[in-house]
Amino acid sequence: MSWMRHCLGTLSVGAMLSAASVAMAAPTNVSVTPPNNARFLLGQKFDLRVEGKGVGPFSATMSIDGVAQAFSSGAQNSLTTDGISSAGFGGFNLRGYSSLQPGLHTIEASFTDSTGTVNATANFEVFDVRGDRAGARNVIIMLGDGMGTAHRTAARLVRYGATGGDPNGYLAMDYFPATGMVTTHSLNSIVTDSAPGMAGYTTGTHSFNGQEGVFPAHVTNAFYFPRVEYMSEYLHRTQGKALGLVSTADIEDATPAANAVHTGNRGAGTGIVDQYLDESDPADGRHSGTGLKVLLGGGRRWFLPSTTFGSSRSAGSDYAQLPADLIAAWHLPSTAAGAADPTRDLLTDYQNAGFSYVDSATSLAAVPTGGKKAPTKLLGLFGYGNMNVALDKLAKRRNVLVPGTTTFAVDDYHAPDQPMLDEMTSAALNVLNRDKDGFVLMVEGASIDKQSHAMDAERAVDDTIEFDRAIAVARNFAEKVDRRTVVIVLADHECSGFSIIGALNGTVANLQALPPDGSVLSPTAVPARQAAVGTYDLAGFPQYSILADGYPSSFDIDGKLLFGFGASGDRFENWLTKPRPIVDSLLTSSIQAELATAGYPAQPVNRSQADGFFVRGQAVGAAQAVHTASDIPISAYAARAAMADQFVGVQRNTDVFVKLMRAVLGGY
Ligand SMILES: [Zn+2]
Repeated sequence: MSWMRHCLGTLSVGAMLSAASVAMAAPTNVSVTPPNNARFLLGQKFDLRVEGKGVGPFSATMSIDGVAQAFSSGAQNSLTTDGISSAGFGGFNLRGYSSLQPGLHTIEASFTDSTGTVNATANFEVFDVRGDRAGARNVIIMLGDGMGTAHRTAARLVRYGATGGDPNGYLAMDYFPATGMVTTHSLNSIVTDSAPGMAGYTTGTHSFNGQEGVFPAHVTNAFYFPRVEYMSEYLHRTQGKALGLVSTADIEDATPAANAVHTGNRGAGTGIVDQYLDESDPADGRHSGTGLKVLLGGGRRWFLPSTTFGSSRSAGSDYAQLPADLIAAWHLPSTAAGAADPTRDLLTDYQNAGFSYVDSATSLAAVPTGGKKAPTKLLGLFGYGNMNVALDKLAKRRNVLVPGTTTFAVDDYHAPDQPMLDEMTSAALNVLNRDKDGFVLMVEGASIDKQSHAMDAERAVDDTIEFDRAIAVARNFAEKVDRRTVVIVLADHECSGFSIIGALNGTVANLQALPPDGSVLSPTAVPARQAAVGTYDLAGFPQYSILADGYPSSFDIDGKLLFGFGASGDRFENWLTKPRPIVDSLLTSSIQAELATAGYPAQPVNRSQADGFFVRGQAVGAAQAVHTASDIPISAYAARAAMADQFVGVQRNTDVFVKLMRAVLGGY
């Protein structure tokens, strides 16, 4: 049996050993949830589940610290069990559990099918961070998606330059008093995607890639997975705090959703955007829900009925009726029960729930500010998919076309008047600051990641500068408006193996005059544009000219910074600002088709064949660059230094949750 013991890891084969007539048959894929070594805040809610695959009927048992537990769903000795398990699986759930006993706890479970029984165990820890000092009233998480150390350095070099070995100035995030490093791994890989990357900070636990606010399971709908309570939900339930989500991404995207939505499929946009509202606790009953009061970003396509231009709503990405025990244990209102409703007019539903709605920079700027004049809830949707990036928004604002184009990208994206992230952050704080119970605010600079995937260095760096300007707004709030605020700046993972490799050796005019060398593929031939890279001494100290709006007038200066991508896909590189962004994959297909016709490349490899040299992807072929497993930097600010100092050193991504909760509940 040693081979089997090995294969099953922590599982042990039970009753089947004594049944001589049963050969090697036993249920497979037996697991207990939460996964081994999960940690929970004292009183934080989570779902337990025992599941396995085999030949029904199925039954299961579960105890915690030796005390037998009753399941809230899952009929014993039946074929259907809980009615939500995947084909061939049986599942048994205990929804909405929590523990008030700090320390280590042991779950022991058994799963039985018609051929035998398999046991499974898992440990979990409950931690108590309460203290006797007044805690932070507000938490602001500034999440630069995909932002590694090199992105920060690049933004600083472009924005401020350097002379004689020293930076000429520093970013707002550089001025944060405490900086450390964070590991970014998910439950099933060293390389995370944004869903468990963000959820590690907001739940304190790991999940599989693609999953947010849940633990892995085999169930028939992405919204049936075992849940773990978010920071926003815990603090709304126990303290009445509000939640704000601000992102330059489509608002269904993984990073904002991993603050408020429980799903095993980060792509289930219809259900995700429905759940933001359905579980926002619109009546402010404070038994459940997130307290969502601000939602600003792209993604209008999910709010429009499926029959409307630009809509992406579909039954296939929605949630069906939620299980009764889930609704009961999480105290969800009947309005959150759910139904596949692609024709739902979600814009109207948000407004009926008290949200003011804005759809442009102009209407956002017109939102009243200051005390009671500000609305109590604010929804802003500034594009159909992801918002355009800073470089393309600024082109329109300055009324200066990006070289090589004849139209503005924001016009082509059907979103001509989009706000910058600092403007969105200010608006969010004006609304949230009305809430006397405090708030959790997550602000995402989303396209640092998306443009690094696209290996579009200039757009990635401009978005890092945009993100830093939003950080300055958050810091000002924490320093001048409400000093009971803790602010952290971090990423969910690094993207693309971004690096600053040197600077252009010569002028942009010389670069533009170089011959086409897209077909130079022999290892013995040096493409002219490869020879243009100035390394070491030849890089010198590039100096960009910064306009009054705070951004460089152009990235194409003589001696410009040049960037590389260690986790790259195939591309053609000419070192010049790319005229157009690649087509946003989160736009509805009709707008994507328009952009393709207008000359927007579908993938990085589709641009610059005529004048760039071919760079073979190190990580993938003709696809976008990928995330890396690198640690990411974290910077923290709080008026009380001890709150920020917690984040110094190397820490796990799930430790960030523990430390933020200690700031709120423990006062340091
Ligand atoms: Zn990400």
